[in-house]
Amino acid sequence: MTSAAVSNFHRLHTDANRATVVFRVKDGMSALASSISIKSVEALQIGWEANEPPGRHSAFVRVTTVDGIVGYGEASPMMGGEHSLGVIRDFAETLAGRDALDHAVIFDQLLHKYVKLGPEGAVTGALAALDIALWDIRGKAVGLPVYKLLGGAWRTEIPFYASIGGNAARTVDEVVRVVEKRWKAETPAAIKIRWDGDRTRQDFDIAGDIEKARAVRKLVGDGFPLAFDANNQYSVGGAIRVGRALEELGYIWFEEPVQHYQVRAMGEVAQRLDITVSAGEQSYTTQDIVDLIEAGVRMVQPDIVKMGGITGLMQCAAICHAHGVELVPHQTQPTIGHVANLHLLATVMHLTKPAEFADPSTRMHAAFANLPAPKDGRFVVPSGPGLGLQINDAEVDARRL
Ligand SMILES: [Mg+2]
Repeated sequence: MTSAAVSNFHRLHTDANRATVVFRVKDGMSALASSISIKSVEALQIGWEANEPPGRHSAFVRVTTVDGIVGYGEASPMMGGEHSLGVIRDFAETLAGRDALDHAVIFDQLLHKYVKLGPEGAVTGALAALDIALWDIRGKAVGLPVYKLLGGAWRTEIPFYASIGGNAARTVDEVVRVVEKRWKAETPAAIKIRWDGDRTRQDFDIAGDIEKARAVRKLVGDGFPLAFDANNQYSVGGAIRVGRALEELGYIWFEEPVQHYQVRAMGEVAQRLDITVSAGEQSYTTQDIVDLIEAGVRMVQPDIVKMGGITGLMQCAAICHAHGVELVPHQTQPTIGHVANLHLLATVMHLTKPAEFADPSTRMHAAFANLPAPKDGRFVVPSGPGLGLQINDAEVDARRL
């Protein structure tokens, strides 16, 4: 920005820490300074409760700029998130002095730096976390919510579905009890029952699985939207059997019927059944999503903390729109990932399904002052700058492992 141009601006922020970042033009418009320099990148593994399993930890990244803006992002917490956090620690120092506004360039540079680790999982989780944090910074710099920067919201209230896991190990009665509890407590817009079974076994209780699906239909009555997540436990033949039963029971989608890496088999099941078959929560690049679509899958579920962050999900939204494919993101983390996902969903024109809500726990509210609460089957997207989250840094630091 030239000195002459600067003379046309008034400083918008009087906060000394942020004073160099945002200016206001005399006619009321806002503009960014030419760069927002990154000062530090921290990888944070967070524990919430004593003796929790690693999968209940959170994997956060905290990016601080030289002007004092703090952005938070989140990686998938698989194995406690330690592998993604290791990648973040490896590149953290190299980002000092880089421009936070160059998030997409930084993303692709780092993806190709680490590509021989294999982009699936640890690397793309790390980059997703960084991308979300840099979008948080960008929004805070201009005083606008992320959804505004993405092109605006079609809606700022997002219906959610209760995503209920662990049903492979339950009896029929137990499944009904667990579903009934969340159905009544949360009044979700839809319910998905997940199997979370042993992926090394296949087709081992098809009749029992159908019985559970039937019992849940009986509980909620005809017409209530239900989905069935196989978590990759069937052969193609087994999936066709279960899928036909789900069609009769009026389920609206059938998720990951076969192994995620059997892309052509996934497409075959999708094409042979009438029920919508979905996949993509274990896809880590836009190219993986295209492979699923080309195989025949017509509803994809990339996860904002596993692949691409906000930038990657926006790219997926464009791919889906171009192909006439439903984008229904997977999302199971209750804080940063959840809110980043809500911002993204606000901007998707053809949003055909509710947002996933997997964890009704309030265990994290100590560090997050204004997490959107599930109410009347909906979440309200935060409208504050960036992700709009008020995060207590000291509370986060107190929970570092
Ligand atoms: Mg799933």
